[in-house]
Amino acid sequence: MFLLGGSLLASIYRLGVFLRLLPGVAVLLWGMLFPVHAQSLTDVEAQLTDMPPAEQLTLLQQQQAGIPGLPLTDQARFWFLLGNALDVNQQTEQAIDAYSRAIALYEAHQLPLTETLPLSYVERSYMRYLQTNDPQVYCPDRVKALALARELDEPKLLVKILTQNAFCYSADADQLNQGLALLVEAINVAERYQLPKNQYGMIHNASGNLYRRNQILDKAYEFILKAYQAWAEVDDYQDMFNMQHTLVELAIALRQFDKAAEHVQVLYSLAQEQPQFKDFLFFAYFNDGMLVLAQGKPDKAADILMQALLLRDTTQETFFIKRAQVLLVQALFKANKPAEVKKVLTQLAIDWPDTAQWPKEVQGIAAYYQGKPPEAMQLMMTALDEAVQQRREFVTQYQRASTLLFDESITALDNKILQQQLEIQQLELSREQTQRRVAQITVLFSVVALLGLSVFAWYLIKTRRLFRHRAQTDYLTQVANRRSIFEQGHALVRQWMQSQKPLSVLIFDVDHFKQVNDNLGHEQGDKALKLVTQRAKGCLRQQDRIGRIGGEEFMVLLPDTDSKQAAQIAQRIRQDVEKAPLRKDDADYRLTISIGSATLMPGETLEVAMVRADKALYQAKEGGRNQVVMAV
Ligand code: GH3
Ligand code: MG
Ligand code: MG
Repeated sequence: MFLLGGSLLASIYRLGVFLRLLPGVAVLLWGMLFPVHAQSLTDVEAQLTDMPPAEQLTLLQQQQAGIPGLPLTDQARFWFLLGNALDVNQQTEQAIDAYSRAIALYEAHQLPLTETLPLSYVERSYMRYLQTNDPQVYCPDRVKALALARELDEPKLLVKILTQNAFCYSADADQLNQGLALLVEAINVAERYQLPKNQYGMIHNASGNLYRRNQILDKAYEFILKAYQAWAEVDDYQDMFNMQHTLVELAIALRQFDKAAEHVQVLYSLAQEQPQFKDFLFFAYFNDGMLVLAQGKPDKAADILMQALLLRDTTQETFFIKRAQVLLVQALFKANKPAEVKKVLTQLAIDWPDTAQWPKEVQGIAAYYQGKPPEAMQLMMTALDEAVQQRREFVTQYQRASTLLFDESITALDNKILQQQLEIQQLELSREQTQRRVAQITVLFSVVALLGLSVFAWYLIKTRRLFRHRAQTDYLTQVANRRSIFEQGHALVRQWMQSQKPLSVLIFDVDHFKQVNDNLGHEQGDKALKLVTQRAKGCLRQQDRIGRIGGEEFMVLLPDTDSKQAAQIAQRIRQDVEKAPLRKDDADYRLTISIGSATLMPGETLEVAMVRADKALYQAKEGGRNQVVMAV
């Protein structure tokens, strides 16, 4: 049972494998049963049309052994077909080889001309274009192909080769008319032979590209639009989409934002209606974001571009993924969202590690966030300089092109040049703005640094003030200490010597203070000292100074005060102190002071005046305390 079951399962499994391999096996059997001969190459070719790329290649490679037995034209055709199959399987180098074999057979044996030869040239050229992107490398084949195609009466072939040749005349304005002439010829052929509409799409697209490469953007727009319409007639959605994509860029470059917005809407509609094209929505968002950014709405642009990048896995076009990220960086930078910019820059560095290849502006933004403002400024300046330079070249190119283009009115051209010159002005303006902005950034950095320093300085000053206050203040009474009141006194004496205004000094001492301490305790003594100080201070004017010069002895400095006024102030102090008893345990303890007063005499020092005041104080004590005595 087990064995039977096991072998049954194995058989089912083998059947599955067999079924999956069936197409390949069929091809193999087909090749063995019907070896290639002159008649069957046409059949092979017919088979190829509906086959997936990999199977096309398998089928042809199986025929290869029988090739030497075929007539030479068929051999050449075989190599051409193999070239096609290698091409669709992305084996570019081998495809070039196969086309070269086809060409070599024609040339070595001077075979009668068929479309295989020009087609081999034109396809090999395309492979070389993919490899080198250098017209010097890929264009000679196209020129040969065109000469051959003109000999053949094959309108479709001629249109294709004319169109391909036109791209070889896009290098500069001088060549533009030659390229356009080829395309006019292509249109004429297509019309004469009533070729299908997609042929027109191809030709108009080529015209649009020629104009575009020569910066004649409105003409480019006109032709790309025509190409779109041609492809729309045959429902070629991929090409329709590509044309709309180009139209958005052209309309933005032409500053025709309304038109650009219309094309973006078409992109969204195509994406929605043709979901089989997986990357349409990515490109719709991409173009939308690009437009909204160009319209100066960076916040909104950033949102849209993020939507695009969420769909990055739907497309193989890494170039556009990078571009979307570059635009997003610019949008977020303009929207002033540093955290997000940094995030996108990190991702961009993963997708595009060669940061030196990044657009200068993005390099500048990166440098800015790396805390290198001078480098950032340099890079942004370079970016703007390059943009200005590009526009300048464009104007020259346009002026040269304008002398060659027959169907352009002079005013229209002048307007375009004017528009470009306006844009140069705008760019230069934004260069200035950037310079100013970067200058502002630098200023901002300095301001921040300055602010930091100021805070530090303020802290220092504050603490210094605190220390000075502590150094100059009596800790108990919070008035000037001995040293400080002497300093102030000396300063006032210096002023007094120059001012002619009188200056008086009071010295007062708490009466029987020992008793306060003895009766109420030292703490109450301290309290009494504070109370007396408060009372005395309350009697003073703004300019007067008070300081503690000993245990319960104080000095008061009275600028601009003669002896009579000094006596009045002294009395007021004495009375105020007397009126404010010290309260303890609901009992009042009467405090009094004795005051000696001296008014500075000409040439007198502070110390001498103080001695006189002190003597007066002694007299006040002698006289019964709680009184004021004026020094003589
Ligand atoms: P007189 O009326 O003659 O000035 O009598 P008096 O008791 O005030 O005599 P004297 O000036 O000799 O005594 C001063 C006392 O003040 C001595 C000391 O114990 C006290 N004293 C000095 N500094 C302080 C202080 O900071 N706090 C307290 N509680 N007492 C102090
Ligand atoms: Mg005393
Ligand atoms: Mg004393």
